[in-house]
Amino acid sequence: MSDKKTAVITGAARGIGKAIAIAFAKEGYNIVINYHSNVPEATVAECEKLGAQVLSLQGDVSDFNFAKDFIQSAKKEFGTVDVLVNNAGITRDNLLLGMKEEEFDSVINTNLKGTFNMIKHASKVMLKQKSGSIVNIASVVGVTGNAGQANYAASKAGVIGLTKSAAKELASRGITVNAIAPGFIETDMTNVLTDEQKEKIFATIPMNKAGQPEDVAEAAVFLAKHGYITGQVVNVCGGLCI
Ligand code: NAP
Repeated sequence: MSDKKTAVITGAARGIGKAIAIAFAKEGYNIVINYHSNVPEATVAECEKLGAQVLSLQGDVSDFNFAKDFIQSAKKEFGTVDVLVNNAGITRDNLLLGMKEEEFDSVINTNLKGTFNMIKHASKVMLKQKSGSIVNIASVVGVTGNAGQANYAASKAGVIGLTKSAAKELASRGITVNAIAPGFIETDMTNVLTDEQKEKIFATIPMNKAGQPEDVAEAAVFLAKHGYITGQVVNVCGGLCI
């Protein structure tokens, strides 16, 4: 067993999750990641290059039993679960009238229930340790809403409510729970938009450009290391939500 702290990050094969895993490896943590369909070879290689030991498991965070096994494997391998970052998320955009039941359910199951599943099992370990930090990746649209994203915005609003409730329940045991609400970050999720659509969005962002996955990762490390910030939503959005 290692004397390093352990950070568990969901959905870390690419995008924001990959940047978060690398940021925690840089901070000296051992890394536990999951992936859904893309094998996270690059994430593992970069974290190992930074001196981290890495455990990587395939599985779906919306599956309650997978979340349990995932946390138990992390604890078994490294002894503690010091940080949990709930990053895994999907979009299935559609206008309300055209939105299929499956599009609503799959987004709520992955983004909201997946976050609940992971918190439920990780907090058990953290309660015994009497320490831990949980960072949930929400979205600015969880506060503002967004046409064509009723399912996604509802899931992220749910993540914010879950964050604040868990923060109140766990604070007295030395566990912090916070959320990050990214605005427009350059990843596969946003690369489905055309250049014209992107330009229109950038025009609404005071900093007039997309954020990078590393911008979110820095905020996650800050929140995880801070012992007296809890129940907060930190916007990483270039001023979009001013
Ligand atoms: P991304 O590039 O599409 O990556 C999503 C990650 O989540 C992938 O690693 C994917 O795994 C994983 N994942 C999806 N469904 C999963 C499941 N059921 N179980 C486990 N893992 C699953 O997206 P991203 O832009 O990095 O987004 C990361 C988080 O930030 C999401 O929660 C997203 O909602 C949030 N966010 C993003 C933006 C943005 O502008 N990009 C803005 C606000 C919030 P596979 O690779 O195996 O499919």
